[in-house]
Amino acid sequence: MRPGLALAAGLQVGGCTRHPPGSPNLVLVTVDTLRADHLGFAGYARDTSPHLDALAREGVWFSRCYAPSSTTGASHASLFTSIPPPLHGVLANRQRFPKLPTLMSALRERGYLTAGFASSVVLGRKSGLQDHFEHFADELSRPELNRPQRFERPAKATVSAALAYLKARPAGSPFFLWIHLIDPHGPYRAPEEPDRFVGDVHGAGVSPILPLGQSDWVRGQIPAYQALEGRGDAPFYVARYDAEIRYADAALGDLFAGLRGLGLCERSLIAVTADHGETLVEPGHKRCFSHGTVAYEETVRVPLVIREPSGQKHLRAVARDGLVTLLDVAPTLLALMGLPPASGFEGRNLLQVNAPTDASVFSLGAYGSDTLEKQIGTQFSLLRSPWRYVRNSQDGREELYDHRLDPQEARDLAAGQPQVLAALRQEMDLFLARGQAKAPPVEMTPEHIEALKALGYGR
Ligand SMILES: [Zn+2]
Repeated sequence: MRPGLALAAGLQVGGCTRHPPGSPNLVLVTVDTLRADHLGFAGYARDTSPHLDALAREGVWFSRCYAPSSTTGASHASLFTSIPPPLHGVLANRQRFPKLPTLMSALRERGYLTAGFASSVVLGRKSGLQDHFEHFADELSRPELNRPQRFERPAKATVSAALAYLKARPAGSPFFLWIHLIDPHGPYRAPEEPDRFVGDVHGAGVSPILPLGQSDWVRGQIPAYQALEGRGDAPFYVARYDAEIRYADAALGDLFAGLRGLGLCERSLIAVTADHGETLVEPGHKRCFSHGTVAYEETVRVPLVIREPSGQKHLRAVARDGLVTLLDVAPTLLALMGLPPASGFEGRNLLQVNAPTDASVFSLGAYGSDTLEKQIGTQFSLLRSPWRYVRNSQDGREELYDHRLDPQEARDLAAGQPQVLAALRQEMDLFLARGQAKAPPVEMTPEHIEALKALGYGR
């Protein structure tokens, strides 16, 4: 660390600590596959998220936050490095995390303990993510429904492990705790009360009966890895997805209670977000109960809730309805802790965004598999309000949706808006020119391939 930088931050250069007295702890939770619009505070009809709702009331939530990818690895890499996937190079789930400045390295340089708890093989040790934390835990304890030889870790077990770490951690240093919860990722089988929403009044209505697919990639079918009890009724799957959210939310309740019990809640900055969303039964042209290959609204709009330490209210003055991306999270969290961004961060410090902005948000869906690239391709999307522009690598086809009239992106207007299409095409070209946007094929072990298949990737 340069002395000047340390002094500017008010740190004890010659002392044994490199963090200012009273430095807040940071707790960052990423809930896998969590759609923003299925949460109570976002107006969802079912009571899916009472604990997250309470956190949003104590803090703030950003209503238009977007992920830079609909795949887990790429999105988490952007969250931690604050740069988009074409620049950090993790475009798909099988690529190792880059050795770049991260939120973790920025905090470690300031004397923070860093601990990560993953609940999925995608973010486990094969990802290289453990190299970015002093303490890393990815014990996967529960067999998957349709691949019982494969394992994941339920949210309550992950939270319990994280709280045990906090109790036993070395004293005297603030900590950064990252917790990943996998539960809303399919197949939808919550460990507790999986059928709590099945058959309720909110499930009645228009959703269809769908055929059970033999693969994961055919439009209008239940993906094979999602199959539940041989059923094809879509409302059942949506109710099951919502029960997964409710279970993950209960684990968040355990986490918040545990932090309170340890006397850490008031001194901690707490953020909850997601790596991507999920298609459920969206308008006709899309895959059902899926993510990863597409970058439409429902797969890239994610929740972002931030609760500041007790007595701190910097976010109250921040515009919360402008376009925000996961790239903005790390710089903003560091700013809320009184720290500068790390070198190379591209995201914005949202404390400095005083009005809704007209920013562009790029997202992609890609797996990095040659086979899948040939079969279904990579999808790139650009959100520049009110438009979403989509480009499909497989055939070069472009799509255009107007969020003012069509927030579900059901009516493709590309043919009737040549000028808008040309402008967004050019912006996309400039973005893609910055990096290697096509996911390169990667070497995988047979074990890794099978494990990813069990999560629904790479069939
Ligand atoms: Zn994910």
